[in-house]
Amino acid sequence: MTKQTISVQLSTTKKQKPQTDQLEFGRIFTDHMFIMDYSVERGWHDPKIVPYQPIEMDPAAMVYHYGQSVFEGLKAYLSKEGKVLLFRPKKNIERLNQSNNRLCIPQVDPDTVLEGLKTLIQIDKEWIPTAEGTSLYIRPFIISTEPFLGVAPSKMYKLLIILSPVGSYYKEGIHPVKIAVESEFVRAVAGGTGTAKTAGNYAASLKAQEVAESLGFSQVLWLDGVERKYIEEVGSMNIFFKINDEIVTPALNGSILEGITRNSVIYLLRQWGYSVIEKKISIEELFAAYEAGQLEEAFGTGTAAVISPIGELMWKEHHLVINNGQTGKIAKQLYETITGIQKGAIQDSFDWTIEVDSIRL
Ligand SMILES: *Cc1c(COP(=O)(O)O)cnc(C)c1O
Repeated sequence: MTKQTISVQLSTTKKQKPQTDQLEFGRIFTDHMFIMDYSVERGWHDPKIVPYQPIEMDPAAMVYHYGQSVFEGLKAYLSKEGKVLLFRPKKNIERLNQSNNRLCIPQVDPDTVLEGLKTLIQIDKEWIPTAEGTSLYIRPFIISTEPFLGVAPSKMYKLLIILSPVGSYYKEGIHPVKIAVESEFVRAVAGGTGTAKTAGNYAASLKAQEVAESLGFSQVLWLDGVERKYIEEVGSMNIFFKINDEIVTPALNGSILEGITRNSVIYLLRQWGYSVIEKKISIEELFAAYEAGQLEEAFGTGTAAVISPIGELMWKEHHLVINNGQTGKIAKQLYETITGIQKGAIQDSFDWTIEVDSIRL
């Protein structure tokens, strides 16, 4: 695949930017978007940046019926020096292609997507908020657009990238959340689509999420789909525990989504000298560690919240209050280090951040 030239059509009007103290997650979008089409004859073609606008599609477009779609999520930050920084964007594009593979969507050229992403951000740079905890969320996604009601991989697709200035993912910010362990519904099974970032996984998760929210919990902790015994992940985050002096996280098992934050956390913790173990962990085993006073911290990891300390886990009739419901030392240190690297305030010894260089338009 060769990198394609991206055409740019600038918007003639500019929307009003939101006040940074009123930012929610994913409700406001910038002035422009990236769009690229796929057809069997031409492959991926016509990458362009256009004013943010609705897209017109045939009601028979396959995505509406069978959900053949994938997405990604990453963030851009403005450093104190005014540099626009992206955190490990190549990993997201690599994962987009892995999701594409699982969903029978044609592979995209990583360089074209990265170039499109950088150009778009450069154009809408003024939308990057700077207040603590804020950033510009980037949502690349692909939908199947062929008008056809047969069940088969679509012959037409669109890839879009949209941008949204965001505040903290949780209203609580970096404060501990309450999570309910889900013992009835499941998110994914090995062999299914759990390792792909695809819309259907989220559709499948809503029911449990709705029940948990009505009981005062912010998300659910999923158990494995076969025995409902082994810990998988939280809503849109991977999960870590500090048990005794070890950090434990569920091993990638074919149904867990491989988070880029998860990967970064493992690298950092090992660099700091912690022993990090990726293994199968049962909920009983976790409860036993809690009862023995050995469960010292629990936290979720994901692009949206970065690090989300867990103050309480509810499992059946048990309420596990972790670290007195306070943010743990490791969660705090990870949050500060990762967001510091993302914003260019802390030395990036792993070369994780990429600068969006000034593109002449
Ligand atoms: C995106 C996602 C994550 C976190 O991945 P990051 O790359 O760290 O943002 C975890 N679990 C699920 C189900 C996800 O969709």
